[in-house]
Amino acid sequence: MQLYENQEIKVHNSLTGKKEIFTPINKGHIGMYVCGPTVYSNVHLGNCRTFMSFDMIFRYFKHLGYKVRYVRNITDAGHLVDDAEDGEDKIAKKARLEKLEPMEVVQRYTVDFHNILEKFNFLPPSIEPTATGHIIEQIEIIKDILNKGYAYETNGSVYFDVAKFNTDHEYGKLSGRKLEDMIANTRDLTAQDDKRNPQDFALWKKAEPQHIMRWPSPWGDGFPGWHLECTAMSTKYLGETFDIHGGGMDLKFPHHECEIAQAEASNGKSPVNYWLHTNMLTLNGRKMAKSTGNSILPGEIFSGENDILSKAFSPSMVRFFMMQAHYTSILDISNDALLASEKGFNKLMEAINSLKSLPVASSSNFNVAEWKSSCYTAMNDDFNTPILIAKLFDAVKHINLIKEGNETITKEDKEELEQTLYAFIFDVLGLENKSSSDADSEKLGGVVELLIQLRKEARENKDFATSDKIRDQLSALGIQLKDGKDGTTYSL
Ligand SMILES: [Zn+2]
Repeated sequence: MQLYENQEIKVHNSLTGKKEIFTPINKGHIGMYVCGPTVYSNVHLGNCRTFMSFDMIFRYFKHLGYKVRYVRNITDAGHLVDDAEDGEDKIAKKARLEKLEPMEVVQRYTVDFHNILEKFNFLPPSIEPTATGHIIEQIEIIKDILNKGYAYETNGSVYFDVAKFNTDHEYGKLSGRKLEDMIANTRDLTAQDDKRNPQDFALWKKAEPQHIMRWPSPWGDGFPGWHLECTAMSTKYLGETFDIHGGGMDLKFPHHECEIAQAEASNGKSPVNYWLHTNMLTLNGRKMAKSTGNSILPGEIFSGENDILSKAFSPSMVRFFMMQAHYTSILDISNDALLASEKGFNKLMEAINSLKSLPVASSSNFNVAEWKSSCYTAMNDDFNTPILIAKLFDAVKHINLIKEGNETITKEDKEELEQTLYAFIFDVLGLENKSSSDADSEKLGGVVELLIQLRKEARENKDFATSDKIRDQLSALGIQLKDGKDGTTYSL
């Protein structure tokens, strides 16, 4: 029997605006799609928060014993500057400015994205498909939508006919917008516009001669519209209707609204049962933006190299900080907030480190079974990590009382406490029991190099007692020295 069979999870479904009981389409299996990054610049901290929220959700489902197929794409074509319908492709623009091949831009920032996510201890998704790897699938969907009469071709471009779709479907149901209001609030088309209505969006765009990212299609050389890739990839890997679609709330409209319209126009089915959206991350109370200087990169937090910060913070600590807010709430990051969070993180890890030496007794003052159940209750309530963390600190309080001899715990309870803490802290929240930041590792490296040098000098002076002592004591700390013909190296 799997854990999930005893748990009832509720999720906030953006489609209905309500918290609903989560029931997967196939018992024991979950299909989840999350819109990934457009790889034309270093990954934003705000995006990291979104992906981290879904990493936590992925981890919790796995912890409960679900088989999860988690698809998170890489957008490497079709996403235009300012999310506009006209304009340059974000990747092509970067390639032009830096005199690179578009795929060099894609490669560089995909590697950066993976590096940062690895530091944050993300689990890799089950599939990480790219837009350019699914051009054929996208063309097939366009043909299908054209055949069903919900799209039209003009001058080598194909547009989705929103007004036609809205006659027998509901456009705007995810974002709560009405087409009539949208029409009233948009300016008229210019004469040279290929679209029939301003609300229509591109499924396929004709490539102008200078456009370097282009593919052949039945409508001529061009490239797919940004919204289409997610429909193509989610349908291909998760089916026409799947369980969960996630992303940042800024994607609700038009991106996710268009995904729904494309899927419904093409196969008549609502593509997603539960839409989950994460909220914003602000910096010092303001929206992050490179243009105003109010921005910080993940790597700058790990190294402390940003004037906003007084010190470096480890990726795991930053992860803990982010998990202290519910994914649907705005989270503000600041030096003070990180410092406060770090105290909590260290306290939690200290308690974990003291578990092994915790004395056991014949009775318990701490009701571990009840506490454990409250941890699940927190997570089952729309993945409420702040409440879960509060529960973890309840356990820390008891651990400290037991350590001081003011409370007792039985051997069985201690084992259960340990297992549960490990499961929630490491498996579900994805934290790591190390507080070292990049800056700290650099310092440690310097100290080890210094000891290697002192050991070398001791050996040259035939003081083998000292050289052995340095090697053995480093080894006891988990630092192995290896003597080679080019000198001594070490591994942690
Ligand atoms: Zn998407």
